[in-house]
Amino acid sequence: MASKQSTRPSGKSVPRKRTSPIQKILLKIRPAWVSRVGHDMARGMDIRVDFEQQLQRFFDLLEQSVTTGDPAWMDSILMDWAKSSTETELEEEPYHVSFLINRMIALTIQVASESLTKQQALDLLAAVIPIYTYGLEVVARYEMETRVAHISNEMDKVQQQMKRVDKSKSAFISVAAHELKTPITLIEGYASMMEDLMRAGKGVSLDSLLAGMTTGIDRLRAIVDDMIDVSMIDNALLKLNYQPMQISQMVEALRLEARDILQRRKLTIEIHDFEGSKQWLYVDPARMMQAIRNVINNAIKYTPDGGTITIDGRTKQAFIEVTISDTGIGISNDNQTVIFEKFGQLGRVDLHSSGKTKFKGGGPGLGLPIARGILEAHGGSIWVESEGYDEKNCPGSRFHILIPARAESPDAEMTKLFSSLESRTEKKNGQENSSNYNPAS
Ligand code: ADP
Repeated sequence: MASKQSTRPSGKSVPRKRTSPIQKILLKIRPAWVSRVGHDMARGMDIRVDFEQQLQRFFDLLEQSVTTGDPAWMDSILMDWAKSSTETELEEEPYHVSFLINRMIALTIQVASESLTKQQALDLLAAVIPIYTYGLEVVARYEMETRVAHISNEMDKVQQQMKRVDKSKSAFISVAAHELKTPITLIEGYASMMEDLMRAGKGVSLDSLLAGMTTGIDRLRAIVDDMIDVSMIDNALLKLNYQPMQISQMVEALRLEARDILQRRKLTIEIHDFEGSKQWLYVDPARMMQAIRNVINNAIKYTPDGGTITIDGRTKQAFIEVTISDTGIGISNDNQTVIFEKFGQLGRVDLHSSGKTKFKGGGPGLGLPIARGILEAHGGSIWVESEGYDEKNCPGSRFHILIPARAESPDAEMTKLFSSLESRTEKKNGQENSSNYNPAS
């Protein structure tokens, strides 16, 4: 916007020689104008504390414009107002300053008719209306331009988002197709071998072929289950069935589950006895174990043979923090947040091999998003720290899992049920056999 301001020495006002009649009129209405406009604007709007100062400045510039016949004097204050208003109120009130100036015109007419003679009022309005009109034009143009820029910026953002969604959708289709194809091929292979053997009618045992088929079907089911879980998490449909559980119990069960794989991969798992590990807390045990299992499976997958996985923890205010560290390939700084987003790790489809525990065997990239969804549904969180990705030196990764230490179920009935079970068990077993199970402690 062209402003004549730059051609003048900044901050200097034009020297006044003699007070002209219009200046006298302006001088006369000034106090009433400032007070009326200030009062009126303060009623309906969120006006800044220095608004009176702003009005005095506006009036000075109005006078300057009238005296010199050059409305461009108003530019600086109009732009200041337009900028500060559009920056903060674009969403709800895009034409704030235009409205303000319109209101000022109405109030100037009021003040003029109350405190001036008819002739003076006419002279005043003839002098100031063109300046106000100029102001309206300047501000409206600026506000419109800013609005258009804002809208096109918003549209750009939406477009970017749509592009990301589109990319993620097609990446998902290729990974899902690849992930599903591997077990399907496996099942097809076993099925055709079975068919051949049966046709030959040699009475050979089909046990090993059936076992292979079951493995393929299990893998298919696991992938589809993961997809369903992600969609439930996305749609906030994950229902938690809170029951009292100890972290040590869950971790021990998971260690047993992974025993064969750990042996095969020559991996050691160290479980520390930390403060809070034997505390009874209400969680959905199946879901919580699923979250921890996903992290442990990753630790197995991304740690070379012979490595160590360490499970430790501590209490942290109303939470228990479990850490799962490995001596694996680590995670780059850039990827430490991306991996918790669905299909975050879709870069190389060729790495997706349907391997749940094979070294570096990629999966559909749903394990960590599911773990995060489960933990967040519990009111907890998950994050990772790692010095970076280095397959040679293996800096390792440490996942932190924050679990709220709930002493009661959000469902009061559940807490009641478990406390009555507990007291019945204690009565039955007598004092000597009293268990340390005390979910409410
Ligand atoms: P995936 O099915 O690919 O294993 P996850 O959501 O479980 O999906 O993990 C996402 C990605 O995070 C993995 O592909 C891997 O690149 C990275 N990752 C997860 N855990 C580890 C770990 N312990 N060490 C190194 N990289 C890991």
